[in-house]
Amino acid sequence: MTELLICGASFKEDERARLETAYPSAYVDGPDDMASLDEATRAGIKAIAYKGHKPFGGEAMDLFPSLGVVANYGVGYDAIDVAAASARGVKVTNTPNVLNDDVADIAIGMLIAQFRTMMRGEAHVRSGDWAKQGEIPLNRKVTGASVGIVGLGRIGREIADRCAAFKMDIHYTSRSEKETPGWTYHSDVVAMAAAVDVLIIALVGGAETVGHVSKAAIDALGPRGVIINISRGTTVDEGALLDALEQGRIAGAGLDVFLNEPNIDPRFTALDNVVLQPHQGSGSVETRRAMAELQLENIANFLSGKDLVTPVN
Ligand code: NAP
Repeated sequence: MTELLICGASFKEDERARLETAYPSAYVDGPDDMASLDEATRAGIKAIAYKGHKPFGGEAMDLFPSLGVVANYGVGYDAIDVAAASARGVKVTNTPNVLNDDVADIAIGMLIAQFRTMMRGEAHVRSGDWAKQGEIPLNRKVTGASVGIVGLGRIGREIADRCAAFKMDIHYTSRSEKETPGWTYHSDVVAMAAAVDVLIIALVGGAETVGHVSKAAIDALGPRGVIINISRGTTVDEGALLDALEQGRIAGAGLDVFLNEPNIDPRFTALDNVVLQPHQGSGSVETRRAMAELQLENIANFLSGKDLVTPVN
């Protein structure tokens, strides 16, 4: 009996093979293809291994009368309608913590690349302009900058710890004040933006945080301000961000996430004050392996009646 459905065109070959070796399984590219499975196969599916950012809602879940768990590959599960899953008695799991280091590293990497104009430096060397034109303009010191972490959760905390090593003045927002080594808490992101050089966004995605970093927050950051986003494209007002970057009302950005990935707004690629990454925050071999293993562990535990390792609902 086929108990597992693997859903997601972005599964790597080895990840998919590991799931297929563990359980007799069916495969679809995304939720839109689920209805194309025959009824007998759908009837047997108890677990879905999900990867991707396509919306997965209640209507698709209803195609699987025996479904008990949707195991997401990734900590962010905003693509999955968790309320619809709960209403159907379906558990959702994710892959927290194992990716914190990688995502925090990418945030700091983009911050350094943006402040120190490393992309420009790279192009200068490769093009031969260094020999023809000499040095690039001086840039901006990273160590000691003031930084505001938007969302001091698991990843936000790792980012803050790295910022501390860079002797930064650390501010943060969260829904409640946390225990910290003296970092400055703000309940309001606009007030925090006015107090720092850099905003690093580490919020959850989903409906509740759409546009959380608003035009008002971007304006409060001011012309020396830099925005780093490793969360989701939805958490910042992208139109306002693009306007501010184009008009020099903020200094720049480092972005790993966008609306409409991978078909991002072409206004981004015309800018020279941004560092752009292809949503690769967790994308090291080691971390992706750990995420795949945690996803499989959740599925295995569900199918053998054990407690889920990292349940969401
Ligand atoms: P987390 O531990 O749950 O932290 C999320 C933060 O968001 C917390 O500080 C939380 O505030 C805040 N938050 C949640 N709901 C909110 C709301 N309604 N309004 C304001 N703030 C809210 O999550 P995490 O593990 O750090 O992951 C954060 C996000 O990073 C993920 O959800 C995912 O979207 C993104 N991510 C991106 C990549 C990438 O490749 N770029 C990789 C992994 C994850 P409290 O502290 O008050 O709870």
